[in-house]
Amino acid sequence: MNNPNIVIIGAGYGGIMTAVKLQKSLNVNDANITLVNKHSYHYQTTWLHENAAGTLHHDRTRIQINDLIDTSKINFVQDTVTKVRPDEKKVTLENGELSYDYLVVGLGFEAATFGISGLKENAFTISSINSARLIRQHIEYNFAKYNNEADKKEERLNLVVGGAGFTGIEFVGELANRVPELCKEYDIPRENVRIINVEAAPTALPGFDPELVEYAMNSLEARGVEFKIGAMIKEVTEDKLIFEKDEKREEIATNTVVWAAGVQGNSLIVDAGFETNRGRIPVRDDLRAPNYDDVFIVGDCALIMNEETERPYPPTAQIAIQMAEHTAASLTKLVQGDNHLESFTPKIQGTVASLGHSDAIGVVFDDKKLFGWSASAMKKVIDNRYLLKLGGIGLLLKKGKLNLFK
Ligand code: FAD
Ligand code: NAD
Repeated sequence: MNNPNIVIIGAGYGGIMTAVKLQKSLNVNDANITLVNKHSYHYQTTWLHENAAGTLHHDRTRIQINDLIDTSKINFVQDTVTKVRPDEKKVTLENGELSYDYLVVGLGFEAATFGISGLKENAFTISSINSARLIRQHIEYNFAKYNNEADKKEERLNLVVGGAGFTGIEFVGELANRVPELCKEYDIPRENVRIINVEAAPTALPGFDPELVEYAMNSLEARGVEFKIGAMIKEVTEDKLIFEKDEKREEIATNTVVWAAGVQGNSLIVDAGFETNRGRIPVRDDLRAPNYDDVFIVGDCALIMNEETERPYPPTAQIAIQMAEHTAASLTKLVQGDNHLESFTPKIQGTVASLGHSDAIGVVFDDKKLFGWSASAMKKVIDNRYLLKLGGIGLLLKKGKLNLFK
């Protein structure tokens, strides 16, 4: 093979880390590497809930791709992938087409809406810089509008979050910090504003350590978050959310529903004809797609099983980064003529979820439970470590959360 064409689609955790690792392990003459992404920037999805609440500006979350890659080794194409054609070894873009010898799919996640009526049309999702910025602006607009209307509309100040998984919990934690600031800014009594988290399961954070779940709920309730637990969202309209609890239908007047109740892989992978399971590709041990030796899947588009629990690993940035490192090593081998690829096993270092800027819960180093400021500091250490890995000390100093206690 002449210099192989390696095409990486998506510059989230999986895509950008594959590119950054490959530019270190391969020389300019080893391969032609192209990275495709919709935007000129990479963003840290794990901070988007802060951008959406308005507690962190989105410019802290995004990083220009050209500041991360060596452009003499990697050709960056800012474009949107519209189709992946694995049988032809081609990727269609809005403005062109690319042929590949090896493809890395890192197109990330999209909201799973489970066919719930009105959800797509009327709810927001925390899924990109654009979607987070829209939520922040929508909430602020409602606060600003409230005192300008003779007929005060309660739906403007009822902020409803669907799902109390990690995304929902982290987002209400940020809202709990942000709402008092907004109330002060727009002269609205705090008691007029409700932050309501609606969860279908019998508990928030189903499956997580019960003691830490209790801590999280107490911390959030103390800051004014209301939980509706065992409440299944059934419908969302322009000005209300309908849920079912104890076989009764209830409504909340709201024009702000943020849907954080589940994710699936990017629908382009289903359209491409890959074998999928609930929108994700059940990859082989070495992260290649079934039946395609030249296609690697990294991040939330990949489905990998946890042999111990016999359930899929939850899609996380932590795993996406490890998959990227593994895939870069595999591609380096293939380019160098070695076809013996290693199996991928994720090393789960823990799970830490923020509850606002100085509170959090987590389990690290197998079974050590953390909560409060120590968990919050740990979360910042994890985020800083990623920045260091991605762009060195310069990036850490520019974008990192250096004050661990604030
Ligand atoms: P993504 O990060 O989603 O990136 C996909 C990239 O592909 C984006 O750059 C996007 O612009 C690009 N793209 C998409 N479609 C196209 C297209 N058609 N053409 C071109 N480019 C395209 N995980 C943790 O481990 N720890 C956490 O603390 C944590 N916190 C989270 C907080 C929130 C609010 C959310 C929503 C998720 C969180 N997660 C966390 C999960 C984690 O963010 C995801 O698992 C991770 O982002 C997956 O990485 P990825 O590379 O697969 O995709
Ligand atoms: P999730 O699937 O983990 O949680 C979704 C929640 O919504 C569940 O509790 C589910 O019971 C609930 N739900 C589903 N349908 C509902 C309905 N109709 N009405 C009410 N509730 C409903 O999704 P997520 O929180 O978006 O997380 C996605 C992935 O990102 C997960 O893998 C998660 O681990 C990861 N993540 C990790 C962190 C962290 O580590 N700090 C933070 C955010 C997200």
